[in-house]
Amino acid sequence: MNKIQLIIALVVAAFSLLSYFGSSSVNPITGEKQHIGGMSQKDEVAMGLQSAPQMAAQMGGLTQDARARQLVAAVGAKVVAQSVAAKSGYPFKFHTLADPRTVNAFALPGGQVFITMALLSRLETEGQLAGVLGHEVGHVLARHSAERIAKDQLTQGLTGAFAMGAGSMDAAQVARVVGQMTMLSYGRDDELEADALGLRLMAEAGYDPRALIKVMQILERASGGSRQPEFASSHPSPANRVQKINEALARAFPNGIPAGLTP
Ligand SMILES: [Zn+2]
Repeated sequence: MNKIQLIIALVVAAFSLLSYFGSSSVNPITGEKQHIGGMSQKDEVAMGLQSAPQMAAQMGGLTQDARARQLVAAVGAKVVAQSVAAKSGYPFKFHTLADPRTVNAFALPGGQVFITMALLSRLETEGQLAGVLGHEVGHVLARHSAERIAKDQLTQGLTGAFAMGAGSMDAAQVARVVGQMTMLSYGRDDELEADALGLRLMAEAGYDPRALIKVMQILERASGGSRQPEFASSHPSPANRVQKINEALARAFPNGIPAGLTP
């Protein structure tokens, strides 16, 4: 590296640090202060919409099973329509991937949610599906992807590109960044936060939040391979998550879970 390159690198790094730490916002849903590197809700939505078709293609494409697609779209819409997610401003869309082997679900920033046929076919009730989708909607509402991307961009000294808006990157770059992010698991706290939000969304949509506990048991049975996809992330393990889910349920429903919810 010569002197000029070094100066440029320092300027870029300083700019990245400033962008990251200089901008923070309070998430209206979680009430937490976040560093999202100047990424707006609009940037997140644009990034998600731009990456969704490539993400689907990369992962083997959407299923041709019309009934499965309709079920996922309908339950997803219900989870969103009845809850705080409807007021969030994110245009949620629920996609079903054909993949019959990888047990997974994930969300892109801005509201594009995916579930594989491998996971869908293991679920036994609509409530369990609502639990999976609610968890992913929780990640979107808590802006976990935006946080991750902001952090990654900081590390790479590229925050400037995002500060100028997602539009300044070409589609392939955006898909690559989003793809890398999605393939990694979130941190333990993010998972637990998404679980807690998911429980709330499920109940607001009329689903019994205890169905999410059954999902954890299904995931535990399905794991055992070396892959750690987003939803089946081992941080924390499904067993730990069950305990945390029970704690979150006790907090959210101090008088017990209302009767008559869909399992
Ligand atoms: Zn998750």
